[in-house]
Amino acid sequence: MSFDAPPFAPAGAVVPRVPISFELYPPRTTAPIEALHETIQQLASAAPRFISVTYGAGGSVGGRSLDVLRYIREHTSVEPLAHLTCVGNTYAGASRLIREFLDAGILSFLALRGDPPLDESQPFLGDLESSAQLVQLIDRAQAERAPYQERPIPGVPGAVQVTPRRKVNIAVAAYPNGHPRSTYRNQDIDALLAKQAAGATLAITQLFFHPDDYFAFVERARRAGVTIPILPGIMPITSPARLRRVLELSGEELPAELSIDLEVEPTAEGRTEIGVAHAAELVRELVDGGAPGIHLYAFNQHRTVLDVLTAAGVLPEGGATSPTGGALQFAETSGAH
Ligand code: FAD
Repeated sequence: MSFDAPPFAPAGAVVPRVPISFELYPPRTTAPIEALHETIQQLASAAPRFISVTYGAGGSVGGRSLDVLRYIREHTSVEPLAHLTCVGNTYAGASRLIREFLDAGILSFLALRGDPPLDESQPFLGDLESSAQLVQLIDRAQAERAPYQERPIPGVPGAVQVTPRRKVNIAVAAYPNGHPRSTYRNQDIDALLAKQAAGATLAITQLFFHPDDYFAFVERARRAGVTIPILPGIMPITSPARLRRVLELSGEELPAELSIDLEVEPTAEGRTEIGVAHAAELVRELVDGGAPGIHLYAFNQHRTVLDVLTAAGVLPEGGATSPTGGALQFAETSGAH
């Protein structure tokens, strides 16, 4: 697949047992930016394959997404991956946006349709009706760029090095338990096939709570002809309020045991431990079952997700090191999926 492995990891780098990645969102104000930068550095030290940054539907926080992506690109060795949504955008507007990201050196995308605005009177869809169309548009925007780029050669005034441009990576969303608006059982598999046909090279799933949700979906997708890696998206849930909010947004069914455990635990520390243990068990079962990697929704905090990966045995206790590093590829680790 084309989310290529880095050629080497520096001596002393942490090597996760399977490829990992994280999702962040742009800060809503300028205030906590230093805290977010610290979080990015901490996440980067776990050697993720990429860090993705969400994008507000309608472009409301596009500039701030790009600022975070630029920070990742300029201050870490991790691949920044930009979420882009097409809701409410024209072809020309979406093309401009894609070019702006490409010009900033962002070469990995998660192409999304986005959700309708909360204000029902606002127009929903623009020129682009599905994420598959956005995948094609990103592909086209890249094809229109010069195939080579010029880099100044330090110390040789006026001289440039000409190198081929790297091809963009385009990921898409997948829904193991169905999108809340799906109208028939296999609609999400059909949508994924369309996104693959449009040029997507990786799928990242919506959160889910049971490993079987993921494995059954992957099996159905493979039978239908989906060949791209399907990366499970895991969200550690550390409070009843967050659980309610994510169920509302995702349409997932209430995980009864986790819900009760969180409700009866009186302390915040205890609830965090419960959330970490629950997510770690899920990660362990996914890795043992052959998932090609683990994508964690980090909620702009590093501690919880790093604890999940350590508890699951994906990251070494205390950040053990390897002198040679290892290739990180989203290839499934068993033949099962
Ligand atoms: P599509 O690929 O176009 O459709 C996906 C599925 O939606 C289809 O399978 C179909 O079953 C169903 N569907 C779509 N439209 C309809 C319809 N009109 N009627 C019936 N069924 C329909 N949103 C953001 O705004 N910003 C983000 O940064 C963001 N990041 C995300 C990251 C991940 C990993 C995931 C899983 C979701 C993310 N979302 C984000 C949410 C996403 O935009 C919504 O779930 C959106 O409703 C669908 O987007 P899509 O790209 O999957 O759409």
